Amino acid sequence: MIRKLQNRPHWLEIAYAVSHRLVGCFTPWLKPGGWVEKVLVHIEKFSKGPLFDCKMCGQCVLHSTGMTCPMTCPKNLRNGPCGGVRVDGHCEIDPAMPCIWVSAWERSRQMPWYGTQIMNIQPPLNRQLQGTSAWINDSTGIAARLPAGWD
Ligand code: SF4
Repeated sequence: MIRKLQNRPHWLEIAYAVSHRLVGCFTPWLKPGGWVEKVLVHIEKFSKGPLFDCKMCGQCVLHSTGMTCPMTCPKNLRNGPCGGVRVDGHCEIDPAMPCIWVSAWERSRQMPWYGTQIMNIQPPLNRQLQGTSAWINDSTGIAARLPAGWD
């Protein structure tokens, strides 16, 4: 069931667009560090965990990476594959595992709304946001704050 959903990226991008708007309606109540964040962290863990193997990085880019979590890459690469992808499209570190960037690219081709965002360059990950709510970080603009020297 979950595998079937993962391979329906257009449904997932629709779900993303709906949830993004829904969460946006509550922006005035979304603040980091309070009980609302605790609740949202649990909801994110129990929804994105099984569906995307979410690692709770706090800066969600799923819609820009073919609805495939880049943090499941053993090297945590957020801007495409390393040079070690095997000829069969599998990971050089874990040969049993398909490279997540091969899956991300293939799925992005089935996403008419957000598929082209896979070409965007992602800024460095802010590791201080690990374990926090990506929904709060996104709607409050925290996730978009760039590290000094990066633009
Ligand atoms: S990008 Fe981050 S928040 Fe989004 S699913 Fe992956 S680990 Fe979770």
